[in-house]
Amino acid sequence: MQNFHYQDNALYCEDVPLERIAKEYGTPCYVYSHTILVQHYRDFDQAFASIPHIIAYAMKANSNLSILRLMASEGSGADIVSGGELYRALEAGVAPDKIVFAGVGKSSDEIRYALESEILMFNVESSNELKVINDVAGTMGCKARVALRVNPDIDPKTHPYISTGLKKSKFGISADRALEEFRFATSLPHIDVVGVHKHIGSQLTEITPFVDALKKIVVLIEALKAEGMNIRYLNIGGGLGITYSTEIPPQPKDLADAVSPLLQNIGCQLIMEPGRVLVGNAGLLLTRVLYNKPTEVKQFVIVDAAMNDLIRPSLYEAHHDIWPIQKKSHAPVHNVDVVGPICESGDFMAKDRSLPAVNPGDLLAVMSAGAYAFTMASNYNSRPRVPEILVKDGECYVIREREQYQDLIRGESIPDFLRQL
Ligand SMILES: *Cc1c(COP(=O)(O)O)cnc(C)c1O
Repeated sequence: MQNFHYQDNALYCEDVPLERIAKEYGTPCYVYSHTILVQHYRDFDQAFASIPHIIAYAMKANSNLSILRLMASEGSGADIVSGGELYRALEAGVAPDKIVFAGVGKSSDEIRYALESEILMFNVESSNELKVINDVAGTMGCKARVALRVNPDIDPKTHPYISTGLKKSKFGISADRALEEFRFATSLPHIDVVGVHKHIGSQLTEITPFVDALKKIVVLIEALKAEGMNIRYLNIGGGLGITYSTEIPPQPKDLADAVSPLLQNIGCQLIMEPGRVLVGNAGLLLTRVLYNKPTEVKQFVIVDAAMNDLIRPSLYEAHHDIWPIQKKSHAPVHNVDVVGPICESGDFMAKDRSLPAVNPGDLLAVMSAGAYAFTMASNYNSRPRVPEILVKDGECYVIREREQYQDLIRGESIPDFLRQL
């Protein structure tokens, strides 16, 4: 996070004081550093330089067109989970032959759209989905390239909501039944089985679950090859964690060192789907203090950002550091809850947090807000979604403008019978 730094007690994004961004674009707003985004992509890519690989950026982490375009220009593909994400990826110029499509509930329309767009492959999550892909490809007179997503039943030791590779999870095909499913897939006339996929969860802070899961997959690939299946791709998913508070997650290089020995003899091209690790620490949410509200039992700091802008604290009890934009020397430190204006008790950015005293009008940064932040924003409480600003070489670019009140009612209409009052 070296590019969010203090200079004379003022917080900067690259060469731009965040105070200036707040003045110019208002609050709340998301601010991203171009330098960090590029750096994170290159660090990841270079860590795997000695292994032939495709990086398919998991765009659900941050799907702004400019961020996608930046990733694509660095050579990234995309891991998509919906037709809407495919549309965005194509609009941003992501190469279709680097797009992989995951998700347990792909509709026939989405499947057709992906086949028409000639994406690299589907990561298939069930045999019923295989049948539908086979049918759709049949009506189009083509063959669909697929990998089957295998659920290795490994505990990634992360939050249950972002754990995806356990037996009880809705994702993938259980490792015990994988061989059978691959045989079934191979028997379908409009399916070309090209790979094996796994993704065990997100915000992983240990390397062992990756390795344990991969070992299981490698054994499977050997069995598939022994049956004559031409498995050309091994997709190890995403999930590398980042530092939100004091975690020390493995670095991309650690992951590369741990997995590369396992890949020696299987002759597959590696696909990876990093999301959070590329964008999470490249962004922050800039917010302004509205009120201090001391009560008998707690001190609340009420800010203008809310759970509709950043839902991670409410949804996962996720920790985000909160930094003052202007550090004050000698400010007393208080234990406070930083909360938003939304009418829900679950609307908070931080609970029981030690923060230097703030006054109305002061600016705060909610850190590590580049991933699963804006993409999860909603209009709840009829709050317009906030702008996204990209900082590069001392310039600010509005890569998504602030929504206006008119945007909130776009597409709504009042039927005639309700018009006469
Ligand atoms: C969400 C997701 C990812 C990305 O996970 P990160 O933790 O953000 O790296 C990768 N692959 C699949 C299939 C996903 O659903």
